[in-house]
This record gives sequence, C-alpha cells and structure tokens, in this order.
Amino acid sequence: MILISCKNCHKIYEKEDYTSFKCDKCGHTVRRRVKNSLQTSLALVLTALFLFVPAMIYPMMEVTQLGVEEGSTIIEGVIAFLSHGDYFIAVVILTASVIIPLIKLLGLLFIFSTLIINTRLKNKTKIRIFYFIEAIGKWSMIDIYVVALLASIVQLDEVFNIKGGIAATSFALVVVLTMIAAHRFDTRIIWDEPRK
Ligand SMILES: [Zn+2]
Repeated sequence: MILISCKNCHKIYEKEDYTSFKCDKCGHTVRRRVKNSLQTSLALVLTALFLFVPAMIYPMMEVTQLGVEEGSTIIEGVIAFLSHGDYFIAVVILTASVIIPLIKLLGLLFIFSTLIINTRLKNKTKIRIFYFIEAIGKWSMIDIYVVALLASIVQLDEVFNIKGGIAATSFALVVVLTMIAAHRFDTRIIWDEPRK
C-alpha cells in the first residue's frame, strides 16, 4: 500500500500503485509527476528572458505632449525620477521592474539547471530558493500599478496623453510567463533520484 495525496486539495488516498486517477473530492487528476513539468517551465523561463530585452530597451510609455510624441524606457524613467529628487519612486520602479523579475527568472533558471546537470546543491536549498522566488513573485506586479497610476494622474491634464509602449506589453508577458513557469513546475521532481 502507498499513500498518495492530491496536489490540489491534499486529500490522502491509499493505492496499490502510482497509476493516475481522478480525485473524488476536487476532480483534479492525480499524477505521480506533472507531465513534462521541467521542460515546459524551462521553455517558459527562456521565453520570458528573451522578452525581458524588449521590455528594457523599448519605451515603457509613450507620452504625447502638445502633439509631440516622446517615449522613455524603464531605465530612462528611473533616471528622470532620480533627477527630480523622487528617490522613493525611482527605487520602487527599479526594484519592481528590473531587480525582482531578474532575480525570479535567473533563480528559476538556476534551479532548473541544477536538475538537468547533477550538482552537489542540497535538495533543501533548491526548494528554499523556489519558495523564496514564489514569495517575491507577489510583489512584481507593482510596476504595472505604478504605470496605471501615473497614466490616470497625467491623463487628467488634457495636454498630455500617455499610453503603454512595446515594453509594457513585453513586460506584462515576462511577469505572466514567469508566474506560469513557477506554478507549472512540479517541486516533487527535486526529490527524484538523479538520472544516470
Ligand atoms: Zn483533490
């Protein structure tokens, strides 16, 4: 007899073997491991990393002032806030849109690589890094709120018109893809015996 718990609702079942079945409490299909979890999450992380480039080098917002269109990238925005003495906003934007997304992506990439290449890193350390990434993920949407807030303030003034640039779309995709990659990743893989 083996004990199997549903990944979704944590109901415990007593089973003969590891064949998949449907949880009768929540309807979730209980599998030994999520199918192709590592490959899918790795592909999502790599896509997000590529999209991070346009998010940085293209304008985040396009500001039309008296008919003249102007765009500024995230970094230019941060520098502008710094030069106005708004250090707090500058730090919030830099942390939320550059530092946190990068830590998340590189952290996930690091864990996934340690699962592909055998390393001496302890499983407990890997799972701690993963939980840390999951915990900070909740804060990486701050930047979208900042942009939305800024747009709503500035649009009160008829002379200005702000709309999201290419970078805003790329950035939103980076955030969403990273979230799916982390959610789709089956942490139980960490505890599997390394393939020989
Ligand atoms: Zn269930």
